[in-house]
Amino acid sequence: MKEVTYSSTRGDSARLTASMAILKGLAADGGLFVPDSIPALDKSLKELAEMDYQGLAYEVMKLFLTDYTEDELKKCIAAAYDSKFDTEEIAPLSESCGSYYLELYHGATIAFKDMALSLLPHLMTTAAKKNGLDKEIVILTATSGDTGKAALAGFADVPGTRIVVFYPKSGVSPIQEKQMVTQRGANTMVVGIHGNFDDAQTGVKKIFGDAGFAAELDKKGFVFSSANSINIGRLVPQICYYVYAYTRLLKEGRIADGEEINVCVPTGNFGNILAAFYAKNMGLPVKKLICASNTNKVLFDFFESGTYDRNREFHVTTSPSMDILISSNLERLIYYIAGCDADRCAELMRELSSDGKYTIKDSEKAGLSDFYGGYADEKETSEQIARIYSESGYVIDTHTAVASYVCDQYKAKTGDKTPVVIASTASPYKFTRSVMNSIDPEYDKKTDFELIDDLAKLSNTAIPQAIEDIRTAPVLHKTECDIDEMKQVIEGFLK
Ligand SMILES: *Cc1c(COP(=O)(O)O)cnc(C)c1O
Repeated sequence: MKEVTYSSTRGDSARLTASMAILKGLAADGGLFVPDSIPALDKSLKELAEMDYQGLAYEVMKLFLTDYTEDELKKCIAAAYDSKFDTEEIAPLSESCGSYYLELYHGATIAFKDMALSLLPHLMTTAAKKNGLDKEIVILTATSGDTGKAALAGFADVPGTRIVVFYPKSGVSPIQEKQMVTQRGANTMVVGIHGNFDDAQTGVKKIFGDAGFAAELDKKGFVFSSANSINIGRLVPQICYYVYAYTRLLKEGRIADGEEINVCVPTGNFGNILAAFYAKNMGLPVKKLICASNTNKVLFDFFESGTYDRNREFHVTTSPSMDILISSNLERLIYYIAGCDADRCAELMRELSSDGKYTIKDSEKAGLSDFYGGYADEKETSEQIARIYSESGYVIDTHTAVASYVCDQYKAKTGDKTPVVIASTASPYKFTRSVMNSIDPEYDKKTDFELIDDLAKLSNTAIPQAIEDIRTAPVLHKTECDIDEMKQVIEGFLK
């Protein structure tokens, strides 16, 4: 098998093995790691259709994580995709109102982040062993709500690791917050910051880039890494479920071998849809990558105009995990559409950090032709939940509803009849109040836990364990801080 190495989107010439790129998280020059080439699937879609999730995940990931042995990778996969998921299919497909919903929320924390974060701690501790790392790994994570809990659940009590999560104190759903602040594990810390997700992510990136701080911690026996989707170890596991979705449709005879599908993804940091882009470039027959945004439609505007401009009002919406104005992973796409020219990518990223915006050339814009951008505002999102429920009895969460709306809009606008797989990124139980209010505003009078019981009846689904767990769990984390205090908080935790 061809070895794949990783280098920075911004020009640092170091070429790292997959395991080192996963350990480091972010390149030294602030860029993101990208593979030096995108490998092609080496099994036919028909062969992959005969495999279970774990087997297929191995076939996809072995092509990217080439310095892991077969035994190492298979052990990581077996430990990740086990009974923590409430279905053996791991990522089941559900057909509703003319689209296929790929339910990525059957893991421990009931959001799609579990798909990668159940695996990342295993990839990372295996990487530490392989590379003879003798330091304790400190995972720094900024979260818009779901990454935080999924990363905490993945790293809690994992020997040789600690994890610090920063979330926007007033920018997550009540259930998201309760999930995080009740996290057990002596190696965990959860901090509410007085700012939004972009502030948290920028703060974390700044700490990663602080060489003096890194040297100080190195002396104390610590090394930083990231569990955000800037880590290539987050992205690679996400490629698998697109291949899985395609091969399930093939197996069930819903599509013919080689027939194209469209993929529609509710997008924030651009990680999930970038994974679909990688799947397409590995040879999966995908036609359009439909990028769905909420009111924070910075990506929609970028696909329309070629200008990325974060200088705008930030909206807190009912799909908080997409309330993002700086989509980190877009940097990887920029690198590709610039013809893998890292200097050009670095130039645009400098403009983004100094002016808050950049404009790509027409020749670069041509590289975006596989993408379609759309968005749904709050009313459209809410009405979509109500419509899908009334027409089919299927209940989707607010993030999935944004994608569902944009998908319908795309179909109506283009007349494209290609089958669509919509990434269903969170369980409706995670955003119960917004979901139930969409179905009937009368629900707003009830308490969060009453609503959960009502949702179970209405959708005829079992209440997920993750929700049962927080009903009575004590709050264990109460730390809050200002944006400029993040470093001190970390120092305090590592004392
Ligand atoms: C994180 C998240 C998203 C956005 O995914 P990105 O990879 O950041 O684009 C969408 N929906 C939910 C529920 C999420 O948790």
